[in-house]
Amino acid sequence: MQQRILVIGSSNTDMVVKANKLPAPGETVIGGVFLMNPGGKGANQAVAAARLGADVTFVAKVGNDIFGKQAIQGFRQDKIRTEFVFADPKNPSGVALIGVDERGENSIMVAPGANGHLRPHEVIQALEAVPEARLLLLQLEIPLETVIATIEQGANQGLNIILNPAPAQPLPDEIYAHLFAITPNETETKLLTGMTVEAHDLDSLREAAAWFLAKGLKNVIITLGAKGAFLYNSDGGQLIAAPPVTATDTTAAGDVFNGALVVALSENKSLTEAVTFACKAASISVTRMGAQASVPTRKEVDSLSL
Ligand code: ADP
Repeated sequence: MQQRILVIGSSNTDMVVKANKLPAPGETVIGGVFLMNPGGKGANQAVAAARLGADVTFVAKVGNDIFGKQAIQGFRQDKIRTEFVFADPKNPSGVALIGVDERGENSIMVAPGANGHLRPHEVIQALEAVPEARLLLLQLEIPLETVIATIEQGANQGLNIILNPAPAQPLPDEIYAHLFAITPNETETKLLTGMTVEAHDLDSLREAAAWFLAKGLKNVIITLGAKGAFLYNSDGGQLIAAPPVTATDTTAAGDVFNGALVVALSENKSLTEAVTFACKAASISVTRMGAQASVPTRKEVDSLSL
């Protein structure tokens, strides 16, 4: 039995230039290739989850403009429920300017626009309207007060809440006990815990993950780029490898990882199985350009062996 998923977060239009190198301040890099893609961490994760087979309701705010309309159209094509994608009459849709170099490294500037105006009462209204949902996934590209209100409301409704703490920012301690899982990458782990983690140093991973458990978290999943992910809970820690691939564009690796993770959890898979599934999906996505365009099909993920 598949559970319904709520994804709360941002929607942006990504304007991507792929070039030999990323510009230093004051520098102009010529000779790039331009692509315009739907993006935003919330939308990317909602689309990844929907394409991989989940029943997704997305809660977000876009502008009352062409980018917002295109985004909603795209969500509907992916069979995402959009009744709680609000249109802001005052603020434009969010935009991200993304540079990608020849090694697949990226550099991103975001103008959040309407994303910065998604209000707590709007999300609470959405959560109350979908009482059958069991899983809630959110990130930090919407106002922190909305994130906190969402987590509190989700906890009241007994939802399993997964927080992808990206982009990295300090968080109040009170939220951790409400979370089923947190999914920081290495940078976000360092910002939240103050500890440096290294994929080859299991002790560093265990220590940082234990910091979250001490705050009341149940499960910690630290993503480690090409090295995969580290899963930690009261049963202990486990490094789950990502399949080796040649990376072309790592823009939405974390987003595909999180979307895939909740899909597997919505199908009642174990956490180890869910993290393995997420590593497979994310590793395929880094071999492709774009954010939502890089999401693999379910068949591609299921047929990839580790
Ligand atoms: P973020 O994109 O949020 O910085 P990571 O870089 O940790 O997060 O990547 C998220 C996941 O994407 C990893 O756990 C891994 O499964 C996959 N991934 C990222 N980069 C690579 C890579 N070069 N090769 C294979 N898998 C990768």
